[in-house]
Amino acid sequence: MKDWFDLTGRHAFVTGTSGGLGRAMAIALAEAGASVALVSSSGSAETAGIIRGFGGRAEDIPADLSRPEEAERAWRQAVETFGRIDILVNNAGIIRRTPAADHSRQDWNDVIALNLNAVFFLSQLAGKHMIENGYGKIINIASMLSFQGGINVPGYTASKHGVAGLTKALANEWAGKGVNVNAIAPGYMETNNTAPIRADEQRYRSISERIPAGRWGVPDDLKGPVVFLASRASDYVHGHILCVDGGWMAR
Ligand code: NAD
Repeated sequence: MKDWFDLTGRHAFVTGTSGGLGRAMAIALAEAGASVALVSSSGSAETAGIIRGFGGRAEDIPADLSRPEEAERAWRQAVETFGRIDILVNNAGIIRRTPAADHSRQDWNDVIALNLNAVFFLSQLAGKHMIENGYGKIINIASMLSFQGGINVPGYTASKHGVAGLTKALANEWAGKGVNVNAIAPGYMETNNTAPIRADEQRYRSISERIPAGRWGVPDDLKGPVVFLASRASDYVHGHILCVDGGWMAR
């Protein structure tokens, strides 16, 4: 059974790997045997160091993915480095918190450019490549706000609903071509993304009390789910949005 989760000889392209959820998922894929291209605006030197430290292979490719030409350059560099890419994890994402009535066009556009447009452009590049190879796994990072409205984050919610829809749309087209497209919807996780809500003691407590597992998630909670969706163990799973949320959506 262990072989089903073995990623030896596979090559992954993971975005948003300078820290947070992306770093934990990149490390998990490398621990399972994959070589990993680490793609972040600020670079991922520390993550690359951790992976190389246990004998894994990592390539640090800094790129601002909100710019389509940068996303394409990063993709080509990764394909050149590894020869082929079998796994794409679209994780890079930002959030801007201001009430809808005051949400600036700049905030709206910045969030959509990275959280939704880059996910589509990279999936398109990966999809073509993977269809040619007859094999591939695309894993998008969705959110509880792929299902719920959230508060003061209209652009983020719109982008994450978009990610959920896109996951299903691409799965419909590519499932018969050897390419699995799925998503992980993390619940409330302890990363930079949620630092402002965690700093608000009352909000932190009210969210914690609503989580059936009784605690916030940590980046390592995504390690098993991402390896599952990247491995042959999930070959017949298509268009699924896997909530890793301590039970939040079940409540
Ligand atoms: P984070 O802020 O810790 O990490 C975000 C990563 O994206 C960083 O590596 C950053 O360098 C990278 N990034 C930002 N702008 C970029 C750009 N223009 N180009 C390339 N890379 C860029 O946040 P996180 O919590 O680890 O978030 C990762 C993903 O998980 C995001 O898509 C986020 O929406 C999603 N998510 C997070 C939570 C949570 O509770 N933390 C919950 C649900 C979904």
